[in-house]
Amino acid sequence: MPASPYIAQVALPVPLRRTFDYLAAPETDLSPGMRVRVAFGRKLKQVGLVINVTDKTALDRKKLKYIDKRLDSEALVSRAHLHFLQWSSDYYQHPLGEVVFGALPALLRQGRPARTKTGFRWQLSGEAKALATDALKRAPNQRRIIELLQAHPQGVTDEELRSLPFNFAAPLKALQQKSMIKKTALDNRARPTPPARAIRLNTEQAAAVDAIEKNLHGYQCVLLDGVTGSGKTEVYIDLIRQVVESGQQALVLVPEIGLTPQFISRLQQQLGTAPVLLHSALSESERLKNWLLARAGKAAIVLGTRSAIWTPLQRPGLIIVDEEHDLSYKQQDGFRYSARDLAVLRAKLADIPVVLGSATPSMESLHNVNAGKSLHLRLGKRIGALRPPPLKLINLRAQAMSGALSRELIQAIDAALRHEKQILLFLNRRGFSPIMLCHQCGWVAHCERCEIPLTYHKHKNKMLCHHCASRRPVLRACPECGQDGLLLVGHGTERLTESLAAIFPGARILRIDRDSTRRRGSMQALVDTITAGAADILVGTQMLAKGHHFPKLTLVGIIDTDQGLFSADFRASERMAQLFIQVSGRAGRTTTPGTVLVQTHYPEHPLLQTLIHHGYAKFARALLKERKGAGLPPFSYLALLRAETKRVEMIESFFADAIRILDKNRHGLARYGPIPAPMAKRSGRLRYQLLLQSKERSRFKRHLGDWCRQLEALPSAKRVRWSLDVDPQDML
Ligand code: ADP
Ligand code: ZN
Ligand code: ZN
Repeated sequence: MPASPYIAQVALPVPLRRTFDYLAAPETDLSPGMRVRVAFGRKLKQVGLVINVTDKTALDRKKLKYIDKRLDSEALVSRAHLHFLQWSSDYYQHPLGEVVFGALPALLRQGRPARTKTGFRWQLSGEAKALATDALKRAPNQRRIIELLQAHPQGVTDEELRSLPFNFAAPLKALQQKSMIKKTALDNRARPTPPARAIRLNTEQAAAVDAIEKNLHGYQCVLLDGVTGSGKTEVYIDLIRQVVESGQQALVLVPEIGLTPQFISRLQQQLGTAPVLLHSALSESERLKNWLLARAGKAAIVLGTRSAIWTPLQRPGLIIVDEEHDLSYKQQDGFRYSARDLAVLRAKLADIPVVLGSATPSMESLHNVNAGKSLHLRLGKRIGALRPPPLKLINLRAQAMSGALSRELIQAIDAALRHEKQILLFLNRRGFSPIMLCHQCGWVAHCERCEIPLTYHKHKNKMLCHHCASRRPVLRACPECGQDGLLLVGHGTERLTESLAAIFPGARILRIDRDSTRRRGSMQALVDTITAGAADILVGTQMLAKGHHFPKLTLVGIIDTDQGLFSADFRASERMAQLFIQVSGRAGRTTTPGTVLVQTHYPEHPLLQTLIHHGYAKFARALLKERKGAGLPPFSYLALLRAETKRVEMIESFFADAIRILDKNRHGLARYGPIPAPMAKRSGRLRYQLLLQSKERSRFKRHLGDWCRQLEALPSAKRVRWSLDVDPQDML
């Protein structure tokens, strides 16, 4: 114990790129990774995290405040994990305090203790087990609870009771007072149930497992490049099994929680251990519990979405990133990190393998293979010997259309319906129609804050801005010329569903988009309906493109391609190809071969041609060559400085300052702009951006770091909202 007060460097959840020095009394035994309570600015009780303890400070010791209280008796964040957080903050030039606090469950951010109450579950007591259903007639909610408990003799947690459509607190209490139900302690540890017979891997899968297994005890990055339905998931499961058996933990990232139920049940069935989940739909207490289980090494498998990359693990053994190309791994606001890229880094720091799986690998991952940085393992065959379905183009030029549907597509749908097969129509645009205009004068209904057209939503009977989410009542007449009624131009999922119902009156049509799945659990209900074969035609946005396995689905129709062909974003063609292959992968996954029909006005487009006649691998090779020629990522690195504000002069003076600082020391760094962002206005603010490019990563990082620290100190930076996006995925 030091004899005199010492200095604690504390990270606070504020947008400043520094830590803050506080005095610690000699008897306050602090070490890095512990939380403390301090006074900060006007806040008297701010939770902070100790990053370092030292006896030096650059400030006047007399002016420093004392740590108010120590909140943890041992480090909440281990040194290894803190190192990872620090590295992430440096790489993305994001303030450490925000990174550190963003990585903690909300309850810990608020300073709550790092423990959870021992969980418990409700069970029926003796008499109630045999209770007749007509008992409790005058207390229907109590009866619903009894019925639920009768159906789950192993017990039900408070969490699970929350699925009841009423407030369960009062009826639960009444039942407890009548001694009809009882509490029993919940054991958090997974009890392994004997696994069901494991699937025998085919030659390709076994070869992949062998290759990875050889180096299960050190860092290695593997690209598992397997066509949809080739059994990648089985390879993951086999690797996870080995890691878990050796007493280590596996971290599995998936793009969307809607896709996990199938994965979870396969893990559970084959490994006998339920994964511990971390995703945005958990309640805060659940999240804390799971986070602590992972940290304590009690969760053998941790499965989650993007933010699960921040889960602390006591004994990390393996990281898996499924659908590694997926855009959802990149956070698009605030701290703009890529969980895929961080997974690779984290594996390197922990010296463990990382497996990136995809049927349509990103250009970045393919480039790493070419550069010898990762191992390329291919699964080329689908299980069940069915080849991926062929893609066929339908030329829409000069064709008669029924709404958004060509005659050829309608005939194919009709044939599939007659064979009692399922059909998926892919249209990546929700709502009824994307444009409402006046037939008389050409006026277009638009969002005044974002200057883009409003989408008409028929069921809601509203006009919605898909960028800022503002809604307006539907206009009955043109505000410019007074003409009655507006023309609905273009097709969204709502309109497509309506035209299908008119053409195929007997068909059961399901629409799956963000509007139809907003309620919690509704996505799973829709997926169950489809899997059970209780739907004929599915109309879906990209929510349905990924991961699902629908045995009866044989025909996929892609309604609109032309948007993806003509975009200013250099990544648009990569995205389009990935989406095509993913959507196509939904067809013909069991015994009947599938077909994919692609509607386009530009069938001769070279990109479409390569993709359709030669497949994704060849397409990717051509695209990489193109990127290399143009010096675009992955052959160079980008960063985007964005700023927005209401007044253009403020933007101008901020960028003028930013460029002046940058140009003082700009070796090997190109800059473009500032230019108005592709969406030049959003929610009433003007948006500008400056693009930086470099061929050399580590120097780029140093450069950006220096630059950001200077930007932060600028008076002009205080009058705009600015952010830096390192490795931007989206130029909007
Ligand atoms: P992917 O993840 O590549 O899309 P999956 O792992 O989901 O592929 O496999 C597709 C289907 O094939 C699943 O139903 C899976 O259970 C089955 N499957 C995978 N590997 C085998 C195997 N070796 N033997 C039998 N069935 C398998
Ligand atoms: Zn008009
Ligand atoms: Zn808007």
